[in-house]
Amino acid sequence: SSSLATDNTTNDARFKGHDMLAPFTAGWQTTDVNPLVIDKSEGSYVYDINGKKYLDSLAGLWCTALGGNEPRLVEAATAQLNKLPFYHSFWNRTTKPSLDLAKDLLETFTARKMAKAFFVNSGSEANDTQVKLVWYYNNALGRPNKKKFIARAKSYHGSTLIAASLSGLPALHQKFDLPAPFVLHTDCPHYWRFHLPGETEEEFSTRLAKNLEELILKEGPDTIAAFIAEPVMGAGGVIPPPATYFEKIQAVVKKYDILFIADEVICAFGRLGTMYGCDKYGIKPDLVSLAKALSSAYLPIGAVLVSPEVSEVIHSQSNKLGSFSHGFTYSGHPVSCAVAIEALKIYKERNIVEKVANISPRFQDGVKAFADSPIIGEIRGTGLILGTEFTDNKSPNDPFPPEWGVGAYFGAQCEKHGMLVRVAGDNIMMSPPFIISPEEVDELISIYGKALKGTE
Ligand code: PLP
Repeated sequence: SSSLATDNTTNDARFKGHDMLAPFTAGWQTTDVNPLVIDKSEGSYVYDINGKKYLDSLAGLWCTALGGNEPRLVEAATAQLNKLPFYHSFWNRTTKPSLDLAKDLLETFTARKMAKAFFVNSGSEANDTQVKLVWYYNNALGRPNKKKFIARAKSYHGSTLIAASLSGLPALHQKFDLPAPFVLHTDCPHYWRFHLPGETEEEFSTRLAKNLEELILKEGPDTIAAFIAEPVMGAGGVIPPPATYFEKIQAVVKKYDILFIADEVICAFGRLGTMYGCDKYGIKPDLVSLAKALSSAYLPIGAVLVSPEVSEVIHSQSNKLGSFSHGFTYSGHPVSCAVAIEALKIYKERNIVEKVANISPRFQDGVKAFADSPIIGEIRGTGLILGTEFTDNKSPNDPFPPEWGVGAYFGAQCEKHGMLVRVAGDNIMMSPPFIISPEEVDELISIYGKALKGTE
């Protein structure tokens, strides 16, 4: 039977045997499913149902950029709820917040000019929308065969059928009959794991770009519609690109008239110490996917940004092809848009990008100081995103036996000491809120150190 454990001596805020089918959780419908129940948030911290405080090192799911209790976001939502809780944006009707957000959002993207924003509710929906936009675009151009997508091994693009297909994580494919046949995967750009002996980062990037070109030529360039990439891979283990990678990849993609989709769902709005990941790595995309920090996660919203060239084709051909018949009841939900408008305003007023750039060396250097630990293979990251990979002998080829549960043990140690991290096998991921203070960064490092000691 279901019950909340309220034994304050162990401070066990784990729910026993609940009625929910929980996302990405093993042991459905068994009493082994004992989630930690989070009840309240404040700045960079969350509290469980028994009042125990945790530093939220992942900002929810890489998303609560402004932390747990930003009153301006609550006020923006409340004001909009009181005025107009809902109206849609279909068939030439819309709302002021969605129009205003489209304008504000496009102004924030300066890596190149973007012409239009299409609103969705999540990162997965953003990437599904990308596929349909690209297909519509190539149908409009009379190129019905140019429909395949190239994504990368270890990427994460979401969990709907198409977004999971694009993702390069086997767990998202196995037992779901995925990926869909129009999706191909190319190399993961993880230098530490995949470089050849003696190969520099630049040479590694050159080899990966060459492999991409070979894949395109093998499939036929007129069958490949788009390439999709996260500027820094997130859920795959936090993998920043090796030197010159995006420069070389973009040259290949451009050569064969393949659209570049930047999945900025994690990287956007300051996470890397630049407004967008595209700014950091010189990416000039045709399409951009956004979600998460767009509203600081206070309400669900995502967006697709579309280049002038792509939107012009869609616009000019839509009389012939019929309307772009795609969208969601809640595309441009006015309350979510009102919150996102306010979040963008706050990012600007508080110079959030600069703030992240200034604090990130304290975070990066502080955690990377533990890299000598005998159980750590690699610590990697940039800005306010960081991954730790546990391996034996400092080697990517010597994983610990999965049954040892090294990552899970480290995660539990962090939890015990008052910090929540993301554990995926022996990968640990952190992406704290943009508002994290220097003292909180020091606390994060201190708990990380204690958990590491306990795990060694
Ligand atoms: N794309 C990236 C890069 C992500 O990290 C995620 C989620 O973590 C998604 C897409 C999917 O977003 P959502 O969970 O909002 O569907």
